[in-house]
Amino acid sequence: MNFFLPKGGAIVLARPKRVKRGWMKLRVVAIVSETHDTRTFQMVDAEVGGCQFDYHAGQYLTFRFDHFEGRAIARSYTISSSPCQQDFVSITVKRTVGGVVSNWLYDNLHEGAVLRARGALGRFCYDIDRDHPHLFMVAAGSGVTPFLSIIRQFMPSDARGAPQEMSLLVSYRTRRDLIGWQELQAFAKAAHFHLHLTLTGERDRRFLHGRINAALLNTVLAGRIAGKTFMLCGPEAMMQIVTAALLDAGVDAEQIRTESFST
Ligand SMILES: Cc1cc2nc3c(=O)[nH]c(=O)nc-3n(C[C@H](O)[C@H](O)[C@H](O)COP(=O)(O)OP(=O)(O)OC[C@H]3O[C@@H](n4cnc5c(N)ncnc54)[C@H](O)[C@@H]3O)c2cc1C
Repeated sequence: MNFFLPKGGAIVLARPKRVKRGWMKLRVVAIVSETHDTRTFQMVDAEVGGCQFDYHAGQYLTFRFDHFEGRAIARSYTISSSPCQQDFVSITVKRTVGGVVSNWLYDNLHEGAVLRARGALGRFCYDIDRDHPHLFMVAAGSGVTPFLSIIRQFMPSDARGAPQEMSLLVSYRTRRDLIGWQELQAFAKAAHFHLHLTLTGERDRRFLHGRINAALLNTVLAGRIAGKTFMLCGPEAMMQIVTAALLDAGVDAEQIRTESFST
């Protein structure tokens, strides 16, 4: 059995990693309205309560709907809560125009509803043994969800396995679309977290303006690429442009990680 020495000195025995195999039942216990089209669903294990599996920030769950409008359908949603939050696990779902499941979840999912999910899955995670000490995250829209989990986990100054420094460059269309904004703003008071927000659909003096592209990235990075690992999540086009710009600037391909929400 492993042990670690937290701040304060007492030796704590680390429990073995908890894994849930197969399809688990998760009960919705709270719904948080993030924006006009995005909701966070907090869920617990339907049988014993709490979150009964361990996960890494950046991983996702796959949900299965066996009788969805007469057919079986599955969709994946990133876990937006922090692995340190043991009492629930959350996902943050944005409505997709013409989308089947996201709209149904947004409109119909209610407290007490039980969903079937599998996970946690995915490798879009920060690894202190492999990655550089400054984690630079780039997101557009709902692509911010893995970073909410990562930032929530690593913000406490004594968080184990945390990068020394974190930056988030995130784009939203308008001020109505800011997901997790109050919390991110509060985090940005810390010296080791830097928040850069750009709006694509309107201007506001407090924020950058325009899509995330090579020029905007250069403005924010100002050539400071050394010691950084880059994680990108958002539309394919944005990730391709940013990846190309980073490679051009001399970033090692191994230090660029992407997560696509399209299947
Ligand atoms: C690893 C991973 C993590 C993810 N995490 C998140 C997350 O944290 N939050 C989040 O909101 N989403 C996330 N997603 C995306 C999510 O899984 C869904 O893809 C999203 O919610 C859309 O699903 P939907 O059923 O609503 O849309 P769909 O019904 O799948 O439709 C998607 C789009 O295709 C169009 N479309 C559908 N059918 C047709 C057709 N026949 N012809 C033309 N166009 C069509 C729709 O209009 C819509 O614009 C993630 C995806 C992956 C793979």
